[in-house]
Amino acid sequence: MDKIAVLREQAASLSLHNTKDKLEELIHQAEQEELTYTSFVENIFSGEIKYRHDKAQAKRIKEAGFPYLKHLKDFDLSFCRSISKKQFKQLSELTWIDGIYNLILSGPPGVGKTHLAIGLGYHACEEGYKVSYTTMQSLVQCLRTEEIDRRSRTKMNRIRKSSLLIIDEVGYLPISATEGNLFFQLVSELQEQTSIVITTNKGFEEWAEFLNDPALATAILDRLSFRCDRIKITGKSYRLENRKSFLNEGETTDEI
Ligand code: ADP
Ligand code: MG
Repeated sequence: MDKIAVLREQAASLSLHNTKDKLEELIHQAEQEELTYTSFVENIFSGEIKYRHDKAQAKRIKEAGFPYLKHLKDFDLSFCRSISKKQFKQLSELTWIDGIYNLILSGPPGVGKTHLAIGLGYHACEEGYKVSYTTMQSLVQCLRTEEIDRRSRTKMNRIRKSSLLIIDEVGYLPISATEGNLFFQLVSELQEQTSIVITTNKGFEEWAEFLNDPALATAILDRLSFRCDRIKITGKSYRLENRKSFLNEGETTDEI
């Protein structure tokens, strides 16, 4: 076996994956640029650190369970008048996750609630936070079945260890008394350890209705609201305003 092959095997056995993959490139660069021994070793170490950092970040993003990716940079503030530039900057800085603040984004369909929630979650993953995304419906299903279903248990374990939990579409479907109680228990459990972002089409006064229990709704909102910001997004649906059509202009018909 030649020397490079031996070194590659040794790098693999030490889990130096970047060094293993780029060994020849690293050596070639050192020769070309006449690097000092110190710089050569530095290149190996920094390449390895970057590789691990990128890998861990990709893992966090994958495990967060986003249904699709949305980015904060694509969120058009001039379209969304309910959030000021300053508020958006503060949200993007993510210090509210360290302070375990919650965020409730409410408003009608299409105004960007999910975009903003996923954008913040994605950015949090980039910055090293453990994030979980779930819809309310899927969360309730997991809470109900975690004792008997391994996948639900795995998801709930991850949620309980997350720094940020995004619960999308709260209030779209009514939930039973048992489900409401399980949700209350989870919110209580997480209140000192996990930031929760909720997106909802319901105002606070309507929570009693979809939870079917005014006392429970008050208790849940009490827990959620203690350290919390509420942003009511008003205005038109971005989807409707930016409707895309695959038919050519002039060929479309409004006669349907
Ligand atoms: P909601 O969750 O409030 O129903 P979404 O976040 O799903 O709305 O937004 C609907 C679509 O419109 C998505 O494709 C989203 O990326 C886009 N969108 C909404 N608001 C904005 C915005 N302010 N800037 C850019 N895209 C937006
Ligand atoms: Mg949505």
